[in-house]
Amino acid sequence: MAMNRIQFQPGLSIPAFQQQFGSEDQCQTALEQTRWQQGLRCLHCQYPACYRIQGRTNALFECRACRKQTSLTAGTLFEKSSLPLRLWFLALYLIGEAKTGLSALALKCQLGVNYRTAWLVQHKIMQAMLERDARYQLDGVVQVDDAYLGGERSGGKAGRGPENKIPCMAAMALHVWRHPWYLKLSPVVGFTQQAIRVWAECCLQPGAYVISDGLSCFGVVIRAVATHEAHVAGGKNPKDLPLFRWISTLLGNVKASLSWIYHAFAFGKYAGHYLAAIAYRFNRVLRKIPFPKIIFY
Ligand SMILES: [Zn+2]
Repeated sequence: MAMNRIQFQPGLSIPAFQQQFGSEDQCQTALEQTRWQQGLRCLHCQYPACYRIQGRTNALFECRACRKQTSLTAGTLFEKSSLPLRLWFLALYLIGEAKTGLSALALKCQLGVNYRTAWLVQHKIMQAMLERDARYQLDGVVQVDDAYLGGERSGGKAGRGPENKIPCMAAMALHVWRHPWYLKLSPVVGFTQQAIRVWAECCLQPGAYVISDGLSCFGVVIRAVATHEAHVAGGKNPKDLPLFRWISTLLGNVKASLSWIYHAFAFGKYAGHYLAAIAYRFNRVLRKIPFPKIIFY
């Protein structure tokens, strides 16, 4: 079997993670070094010298100039959380490493917390992933496709728009060598011209070169933002064309992942979170961004 260099890239093993981030002190040091690589500047007056107040469980720093205090977790997703940082790091590790996703129930067991805490931690992390990737717009050659995504539920209808499935747009920017480079998975209110226009303005850089299978609502609207090329293969499913290889493979994997991992939840309500987590992981694996830098990139 040919070796896939992405699949076989070295990750962080569980023993190595525990060795590096197994204690509260280790996690606080890692967070401090990752947040303030040049040293902490006071968040209030920008003075470049702060000292750590001793004897505090949660790291607290005081400015030598204005005497105002700054918490290590202020302005991060850990702010005001009573959960130890080592459990937050473990959650980030587990969610970041789980190639096919991780349910709140599985996270509850792994962290040893109650379900509500696990659910809140999972959704806070997924919200951070969503906000981080929302800063990017896709540029260059971009494959787009539409799909109804969500968990299977017994009794649901087949085809477009079955119960517990919602309309989503998948877009993959390709590298100059035509390999996958950046992914966006976004729920949309429907495959209408207005919905696709909102999506295109949010996700595509002006001038991007978009390739689609020619769904009627794509053309006019995407052309308002980017150059659009529609491919409709007579008698053949456009998704089988080599041109759509990456996006079709990816959507197949996403559907399988959602069916197996998250089959019991109300997907429609939190689709943005779950899809953002899948895209975030995909984008960082491609770039080989190691833990814990993955939190901030
Ligand atoms: Zn200050």
